[in-house]
Amino acid sequence: MKTRGNLIVLSGFAGVGKGTVLKSLFETHEGYAYSVSATTRAPRPGEVNGVHYFFVSKERFEEMIEEDELLEYASYVGNYYGTPRSYVEEKLEDGFDVILEIEVEGALNVRKKVPDAILIYMLPPGARVLQERLKGRGTETDEVIARRMKRAGEEAQRVSEYDYIIVNYDVDDCADQLDALIRSQRLRVRSNLPFITKLQKELKELT
Ligand code: 5GP
Repeated sequence: MKTRGNLIVLSGFAGVGKGTVLKSLFETHEGYAYSVSATTRAPRPGEVNGVHYFFVSKERFEEMIEEDELLEYASYVGNYYGTPRSYVEEKLEDGFDVILEIEVEGALNVRKKVPDAILIYMLPPGARVLQERLKGRGTETDEVIARRMKRAGEEAQRVSEYDYIIVNYDVDDCADQLDALIRSQRLRVRSNLPFITKLQKELKELT
């Protein structure tokens, strides 16, 4: 009997390493589907349409909102970001655990629409580590780093609204922990009601 997959929402401060951890998770563990978001922001060097994001115009994005094609969306630093609904639905139905890598506002909107969604927040081991990682990327100016650190401080206030935290001490360990956490959700009673009902029925027939 195929069990429907779980909807997993992963958030975390810029620079915490979400992308690297997810890459490790997908390379070493099976059963996951990554939801590619739509955005109106311009691609960064190396970003590929349909892989990192679906890069769309503001008009197209607003049409997606109107046509109810998005599971959630949010405006973040002047651009729209949103989760196309049909891919998520299809993969959940096929039994995959679907991962949305989205910011806090969108995450909490997902919770309203899909109460069973599991919200995970990835944290750095400490504030200094975060600052060093942002600097180490070498892609942002000191001013941008300072803005991102400030934003991290604001976002940290909302971590208590999530279900789980995961601390990124080491990329591969963090990916293993994430996998263990997500897999354990598959053992929840409410995720297994069809199986339980079937067994109850069989037991009744035999007694
Ligand atoms: P970036 O521009 O750095 O790729 O992403 C900026 C922020 O938008 C990140 O926190 C990222 O997780 C978030 N984000 C990416 N896709 C989505 C989405 O579909 N919905 C929402 N609500 N946030 C998203």
